[in-house]
Amino acid sequence: MTTHTTRMLIIGSGPAGLSAAIYGARAGMQPIVVQGLQPGGQLTITTDVENYPGFRDVIQGPWLMQEMQAQAEHVGTRMMWDTITEVDIAGGSPFTAKGDSGDEYVGDVLVIATGAQAKWLGVPGEESLSGKGVSACATCDGFFYRGKKVAVIGGGNTAVEEALYLTNHSEDVTLIHRRGDLRAEKILQDRLFAHPRISVLWNKRVEEFLGDPLAGGLTGLRLADTETGEFSTFGCEGAFVAIGHAPATELFRGKLPMDESGYLLVKPGTPKTDVPGVFACGDVMDHTYRQAVTAAGTGCMAALDAERFLAEREFSKVAETAEA
Ligand SMILES: Cc1cc2nc3c(=O)[nH]c(=O)nc-3n(C[C@H](O)[C@H](O)[C@H](O)COP(=O)(O)OP(=O)(O)OC[C@H]3O[C@@H](n4cnc5c(N)ncnc54)[C@H](O)[C@@H]3O)c2cc1C
Repeated sequence: MTTHTTRMLIIGSGPAGLSAAIYGARAGMQPIVVQGLQPGGQLTITTDVENYPGFRDVIQGPWLMQEMQAQAEHVGTRMMWDTITEVDIAGGSPFTAKGDSGDEYVGDVLVIATGAQAKWLGVPGEESLSGKGVSACATCDGFFYRGKKVAVIGGGNTAVEEALYLTNHSEDVTLIHRRGDLRAEKILQDRLFAHPRISVLWNKRVEEFLGDPLAGGLTGLRLADTETGEFSTFGCEGAFVAIGHAPATELFRGKLPMDESGYLLVKPGTPKTDVPGVFACGDVMDHTYRQAVTAAGTGCMAALDAERFLAEREFSKVAETAEA
């Protein structure tokens, strides 16, 4: 077992963790990033990214994350192939984390950037057609379906918001829900039902995503009626699965405050958690925006606040010594 010590320990290597690393390294905190099971984070499972600032042409998600990692390493970040399985934050700074490898990581500050994963239906065709008509993010991919017929699957706030957002691009949006009523807030439902380009298919469960990933992508959905059991086919070129996200916060249960869905709670407008020296950034603390650029932004904020935390602590120590 090896113990790796750093001023700034970052868990997660998506846009939030790597942005925190770039700022942290440039502030002299010699960060360590523990990458986890998905090095580079969620953008590594997508293809075209058109909304990350600075690139006029379409770029590829995996390429963007390689570049972010290269930049973080260039300024002095150490990247670790490991997954954190346990954290000890109760005693305050320094914070300790144990890796799957058996190694231990000790950081004066801890930046949590473990992200969130979209929940999927787990039915045939979903994985193979992902990025070829099947998506879990209307803000990210809606633009690619301009003028096309799309479906949104789900019945909560996210599904209704995604359906409303997609009307910016598509003339024909259908919300498909397995029940006969929605869980979404009433005000969102009112907007949905009043929208001329949105229709709702009630009591339908998606059994399969249809189409050929190598030739044209998604062509439709095979649906089952949850009341009669009858099967039908719904033709569409885009399908957005909007049944929620699961933040990767199991490690912190009982250790840091979270909301009812498991997102870490931070002080409003900051990445500060309840524990001084522990910061949370990116999708793990943000169920509203969930974009690479917002994750990178809050990663930057976490590093700036981490640097201030350490500077204030050093200053207090110097002042105490001078007084003694
Ligand atoms: C298919 C798809 C397409 C998308 N397209 C776009 C787009 O076009 N534009 C856009 O702005 N956004 C897009 N997004 C959203 C964007 O990817 C996320 O908002 C962003 O990646 C969040 O960054 P993050 O750093 O907070 O977390 P993530 O990217 O989720 O990264 C989390 C990191 O934490 C690590 N981790 C988790 N648990 C542990 C652990 N125990 N130990 C160590 N490491 C751990 C993971 O390995 C991973 O590296 C898309 C998302 C998906 C799924």
